[in-house]
Amino acid sequence: MLIDNHGRQINYLRLAVTDRCNLRCNYCMPSEGIDFVQNDRLLTIPELKKVSEILVSQGIDKIRITGGEPFVRKDLMVLLRHLAQLEGLKDISVTTNATLIGPHIDELKALGITNINVSLDSINRETFERITRRKQFDTVHDNLIRLITEGFNVRINFIVLDGQNEQDIIPILDVMKHHEVSVRFLEEMPFNGGSKNFNTIKWNYKAILEHIAGTFPNYQKLESPKESTSINYKINGHKGTFGIIPSFSRTFCGSCNRLRITATGDVITCLYGKPKANLRDMVREEFSEEKVKETILKTIGSRAKTGFEAQNEHSNTVFDNSMTSIGG
Ligand code: SAM
Repeated sequence: MLIDNHGRQINYLRLAVTDRCNLRCNYCMPSEGIDFVQNDRLLTIPELKKVSEILVSQGIDKIRITGGEPFVRKDLMVLLRHLAQLEGLKDISVTTNATLIGPHIDELKALGITNINVSLDSINRETFERITRRKQFDTVHDNLIRLITEGFNVRINFIVLDGQNEQDIIPILDVMKHHEVSVRFLEEMPFNGGSKNFNTIKWNYKAILEHIAGTFPNYQKLESPKESTSINYKINGHKGTFGIIPSFSRTFCGSCNRLRITATGDVITCLYGKPKANLRDMVREEFSEEKVKETILKTIGSRAKTGFEAQNEHSNTVFDNSMTSIGG
């Protein structure tokens, strides 16, 4: 078992497989993109397999594949096929923008990889295109509906962006009320590749809930697993649920069970902190399993207690980073 220096069990790995993305969401990166790393700096599929195996042997039982956009990586399914038969790994999930997942839906289902988070910040074509700077609305919409109707456990991630998509909060709940999906509203975070800096946000979790309650006063709070980052609710008469994630307010750090490994092998023990180690050169050496294990134990043994503490350990330069490099 992996237990951090604050007594929290770490069993959830967010593994980024690339920093590249085919969208250019304006809250994530500048329009020209970021300096994407060269391919030889990305972990290869055998290296991603090796890292996953080692971490599962140490007590990770849930892996979320993220990116960049995971499906821009042509060999992604090779990794997923391997993970699907990895003993000890109970839960594999994928976070995607749903532009490229279409051809893989059948195989994902066959592999039992049915937990899919789809990022969708608007159900209005124009707003979607303005935010993502790409014309992919129909593809995303079609793939989302296909995932839902084929019985995947779908969660929609909707980042609430001041002046951009607040008018879609109620409509997305309306559209999704006939479907068994969870719509999760996230606070915006300042990881946007230096596009803009901010210290407060208008749409914090309280403002989001108040806004929803104005239209749907009949909602109930649901019980959530203790390590859940979302506070979850059900509106009377809706098939699905909604959640709010205080990703900027950081009210959930006390039960954080996550570790992040970026596509270049950086080990991140808190989203708001700097990388604590890098595994890439290590996994490229022969017989490196023990070294990787020791590194993981060391990083987990020195985690910041909260995202605020992690942020204070450096001078905000982490905010120059883009979420596409960190993996969300
Ligand atoms: N490409 C995939 C996707 O779109 O879901 C996975 C990677 S993306 C970086 C992971 C998540 O991070 C997405 O849900 C995205 O909306 C979110 N994200 C990106 N930048 C963010 C920011 N500045 N604040 C909050 N969430 C952000």
